[in-house]
Amino acid sequence: MKIERPRGTRDFLPDEMEKRRAIEKVMRRIAESYGYREVLTPTFEHLELFTIKSGEGIIEEIYAFKDKGGRDLALRPELTAPVIRMFVNECTGMPKPLRFYYFANCFRYERPQKGRYREFWQFGVELIGSASPLADAEVISLAYRIMDELKIEFDLHIGHVGLLRHLLRDLDENVASKIMRLIDKKDIEGLESYLDETKVDSDLRDSIFSLVELVGSRDIIESAREIIPNFDFSHIEKVCDILDALDVEYKLDFGIARGLDYYTGVVFEAYAREGLGAQNQICGGGSYRLAHLFGGDDTPATGFALGFDRIAEICKVEVVRKKKVVVVSFKGLEGEAFKIASMLRNRAVVVTDVMERNVKKQLSYANDINADLAVIVGERELRDGKVAVKDLKSGEQKTVSMEELLDVI
Ligand code: ATP
Ligand code: MG
Repeated sequence: MKIERPRGTRDFLPDEMEKRRAIEKVMRRIAESYGYREVLTPTFEHLELFTIKSGEGIIEEIYAFKDKGGRDLALRPELTAPVIRMFVNECTGMPKPLRFYYFANCFRYERPQKGRYREFWQFGVELIGSASPLADAEVISLAYRIMDELKIEFDLHIGHVGLLRHLLRDLDENVASKIMRLIDKKDIEGLESYLDETKVDSDLRDSIFSLVELVGSRDIIESAREIIPNFDFSHIEKVCDILDALDVEYKLDFGIARGLDYYTGVVFEAYAREGLGAQNQICGGGSYRLAHLFGGDDTPATGFALGFDRIAEICKVEVVRKKKVVVVSFKGLEGEAFKIASMLRNRAVVVTDVMERNVKKQLSYANDINADLAVIVGERELRDGKVAVKDLKSGEQKTVSMEELLDVI
């Protein structure tokens, strides 16, 4: 009986892994160049870490289970809460701000479809300790640089959940958070009927809809000011100033609500222009406060998570491969072949026969696996300290000394 993979999971074959690693490498390089250092938290955590303030959407999606000791645990659905938990437990004595990045798998019980899996990977950063617009600008520009360097066509939208929260401040907390979720899902019909249902007055209703529809250049701040005259727009303006100076292209979008309840200020999302259909959101982030909920001091932070699998799906990175060499040997010379292979491995990928095949079959295998060169170890050449080298792309073959061999490879 064949055993299938669990629903919503994937196997990654070597070609795909090679591509994923190449993308990962770019992300790491850029994050590190901004001073971010990698962290890793456990794959599973106490369930309550995610239920404290993650928003209802994520609770339904959590892979939760009891362990043999009866503890309520969950596979991490995201890494922001775990990283802040780690910060509270281990890092409060470290100089602020802290710059962390992570690359890890996450688990959500979702309906699997293109770009939506039950196990998927996120690459993200958390900048902990600053509530300044400078921190938001840094994090947004870092996300932008990564997507730009990966040559993805995307639209970056930046908003501020403070505006919506300000409008909804007099409503019951649960009602407000449900409204935020409907806005996040762009479920306008659902929003209309929910506003009817909860008898939200018509002025507020109009303000909500006008605000949510505001998408555009910096000028929309003026329109937003008309809707919410007593809101302080200086923070978002400063973020814009810096991004403009960096030539980061973006749109302001005051309809961004974000699914998770912990965001407090600037929020942003990036959408791929093509190749992903409905699941086109490839990055989400913003500033938030979580540390006080996990027993730490109230500490501002800003971060983002890139949807690695969606990015891998559309990104065309060039995979740089090492030269591939097959050392082919006549029967009885396997020891020599293994020795020559060892000598070459710091310059190339080198494989030897382990199937006890004849020379012809070894060469044909070398072609099958797309090798660049075959080094043929034969009795006669070996007696003169030489081997034959065959270029498998051109078919050209020559006999070289061991020293010359190193130059060829
Ligand atoms: P979506 O609205 O698409 O479900 P989300 O708001 O739940 O996304 P976040 O929690 O912000 O997503 O996660 C950050 C990124 O992780 C998303 O922008 C997306 O690219 C990716 N992502 C989220 N859920 C999945 C999933 N089930 N499979 C693959 N990628 C995902
Ligand atoms: Mg989701």
